[in-house]
Amino acid sequence: MSEEIKQYDVLVIGCGPAGMTAALYTSRAALSVLILERGVRGGELLNTAEVENYPGFPSIQGPDLATSMYEGAMRFGADYAYGNVKAIHPGQPYHTIETDTATYQAKAIVIATGSTHRLLDVPGEADYAGRGVSYCAVCDGAFFKDGKLIVVGGGDSAVEEGAYLTQYAKQVTIVHRRDQLRAQAILQERAFANEKIDFTWDAQVQEILGDGQKVTGVRIVKKDGSSYVEDCDGVFIYIGLLPNQAGFDDLGITDEEGWVITDENMLTKVPGIFAAGDIRQKKLRQISTAVGDGGQAGQEAYNYIQSL
Ligand code: FAD
Repeated sequence: MSEEIKQYDVLVIGCGPAGMTAALYTSRAALSVLILERGVRGGELLNTAEVENYPGFPSIQGPDLATSMYEGAMRFGADYAYGNVKAIHPGQPYHTIETDTATYQAKAIVIATGSTHRLLDVPGEADYAGRGVSYCAVCDGAFFKDGKLIVVGGGDSAVEEGAYLTQYAKQVTIVHRRDQLRAQAILQERAFANEKIDFTWDAQVQEILGDGQKVTGVRIVKKDGSSYVEDCDGVFIYIGLLPNQAGFDDLGITDEEGWVITDENMLTKVPGIFAAGDIRQKKLRQISTAVGDGGQAGQEAYNYIQSL
């Protein structure tokens, strides 16, 4: 006997800030809505100790913000289910969505799957994540006032975020595995002119060291094989973000790196399929921008369904 396929007006993939906001807007507009999440509801908020730059909350713990966003989003009757989306088959009026355990149909889809930070994959990185190891200068830089920081990477993000960190830190050392940066020329010029930034070339962070509570240093290995310990208060890792695109990478809606391309209404090139939050091709990946995207996508999903 074939399993019954549940149908919804809107299916939201991912229960981070973008997905929760899209669910709030669409369920409040009296649409039937399902959020599918493959992990724990809250998305990257769960990896954030303190949030100081989300309007309305001078300071809030990421998990607390996740809980209150989730309660707000579910108030108007949206459903929530576990599901790791593996495939989307576009159609009209219903798209079909396959997870590892079930199949659903929905008239509109909001992809809000976010991104994953590329990890250094060295000892100490996981142990001190959130206790000196960070992937977000805008989020965590203020915690390192007058500190000494190591930034790992050589691209735009490493150099731009390294410069941003100098407004808090007394010294920022950019550790790069090559002998020159990959960042845009103008960013390089600014970094070289910044007295608080210095560079360690042809070097890799081999291990992140700590006292059990927080980061105290890194072990650096040079291209010639020599290694030494550099004391520091924090390590910011910018070796790239990876889009969580596995469930829809055959739809042709991403750029060459896997970020979803939308118009300003969050619509992809497939009618009825929208994207919101960090998964989009965009410059600023933050809670506020994810929430803004989610509201826009939700409203456009509503408009799309009315037009069918
Ligand atoms: P996410 O929060 O990444 O949520 C995406 C969700 O989709 C995840 O729960 C994931 O499990 C799920 N998902 C992915 N693929 C699938 C799939 N195939 N099927 C089902 N579910 C799927 N921003 C700020 O504004 N202020 C801060 O202070 C701040 N601090 C940060 C600190 C850290 C350590 C980190 C990592 C980020 C921080 N950010 C901060 C950034 C902020 O968390 C993100 O910009 C925001 O969470 C993006 O929201 P999102 O909904 O787009 O994606």
